[in-house]
Amino acid sequence: MARIDLVDLAHSYLVGDDLPDQAYALKPVSMTWRQGGAYALLGPSGCGKTTLLNIISGIVTPSRGKILFDGNDVTQLSTRERNIAQVFQFPVIYDTMTVRENLAFPLKNRGLPKADIDKRVAEIAELLDLTPNMNRKATRLTADAKQKISLGRGLVRNDVAAILFDEPLTVIDPHLKWELRSKLKALHRALDLTMIYVTHDQTEALTFADTVVVMHDGRVVQSGTPEELFEKPAHTFVGYFIGSPGMNIVPAQVRGREAIVGGHALALARSYDPLPSSAKVEIGVRPEFVHLAAKAPGLMSGKIERIDDLGRIRFARVRVGDSLFAARVPPGFEVQGDEAALQFESSRIHVYADSRIVEGRSLEQVA
Ligand code: ADP
Ligand code: MG
Repeated sequence: MARIDLVDLAHSYLVGDDLPDQAYALKPVSMTWRQGGAYALLGPSGCGKTTLLNIISGIVTPSRGKILFDGNDVTQLSTRERNIAQVFQFPVIYDTMTVRENLAFPLKNRGLPKADIDKRVAEIAELLDLTPNMNRKATRLTADAKQKISLGRGLVRNDVAAILFDEPLTVIDPHLKWELRSKLKALHRALDLTMIYVTHDQTEALTFADTVVVMHDGRVVQSGTPEELFEKPAHTFVGYFIGSPGMNIVPAQVRGREAIVGGHALALARSYDPLPSSAKVEIGVRPEFVHLAAKAPGLMSGKIERIDDLGRIRFARVRVGDSLFAARVPPGFEVQGDEAALQFESSRIHVYADSRIVEGRSLEQVA
């Protein structure tokens, strides 16, 4: 088990001095992964997740910066020397070996006594429902079962610095995914191991992890608990990517305690200093905190374009000028005609300049 520090780390697959920013698959990042933490590394395809994971495991040597395990510089060490287990998107197993031999391999390799190997292999096989197949050759099994063996090989050692998972459930049947994810979570609780789980799926990330690290375009844009990412996205991408529907993000002019959106003034709970005139200023507010209401003087209103019924909750899409808002339809609210007003919870509105959150001053600070 280890605490992992990334110190001013960056990586470009291109070689050369003076590379432009966009040549970096991973833009400079400094951060700490707590020993024993359950992390998800979340972002869309191509944003740099695998690059970062492979730098942590030692498959890729970064073009800049350092990696520390418990304070020791491991930047030039191999995966084996770092003592890392990694599970990939597609099965990495020995086809000619039996399931049992596959699971035992990482332990044999480390020279563990046979009795210990047998015990541990039996435990992991049980956890992954592989016990009935123990003596079968891996080559005859389904893609699902092969990937479970891969997971087992990653999980079988309990003395590793960390276990890294790179979209490990991609080839797994949907109904099994949920079950395996819960098992990984339970295993994390039982083992006190540092785990980093890469995914592009917010549901997977939010259910597995205590801390979710969101990446966008080669950058780590926020690291926080699922609640923090929901309540206070540090970057508009986090607001948009997490949540369903995502956060409303609309252009605004912000002055003091007011945001002007489409000619309408919205009250803010915090006060903002003047922002640079060159900045792209937006407000962000989650659909859960915008409520559809009957039209009334002083309320922003617009045209309802559609209503999505998600069962327990309904969201309306309301056009106001050039902006389209998602807003919660209060239980029992009768939609009349195609026009309605929007009521905003002031304390839930955030201000963004060039996509990054701007900290306003609370009223006590202003007074
Ligand atoms: P993700 O895992 O989030 O999908 P990757 O880390 O695989 O993202 O890729 C990040 C960027 O780096 C992408 O633009 C990808 O095309 C590029 N990239 C990944 N691996 C290589 C490589 N071996 N050589 C050159 N470019 C690469
Ligand atoms: Mg990847």
